[in-house]
Amino acid sequence: MRLIDACEAKAVIKDLRKTIDREIPGATLGTVMGLISCYIDAQPTIDAEPVRHGEWQKTPSTSDEYELKYECPFCKFEIILEGYGDEGIFNYCPRCGAKMDGGTEKR
Ligand SMILES: [Zn+2]
Repeated sequence: MRLIDACEAKAVIKDLRKTIDREIPGATLGTVMGLISCYIDAQPTIDAEPVRHGEWQKTPSTSDEYELKYECPFCKFEIILEGYGDEGIFNYCPRCGAKMDGGTEKR
């Protein structure tokens, strides 16, 4: 698999249509498809990491009964909430970027 920027590829293909209309107006479908394939092949590969999905793991507090302690299941980053309940918790991990949307992926 090779990742490319779909928006950039679409813009290039849109420009290609103008070029074909101007330069080779009688182009066959096969010619057009071949050109599109070449333009997609010429797009630079982009770096991307897969998005992880999980949920904060509630861990026992050792110091305060009103303290809520949560841990990221991927990087073990801890968040401690005092007196705010669950509402102050992030919907992503600020350290590793995992989305805390209830996904089931675990490490
Ligand atoms: Zn994390």
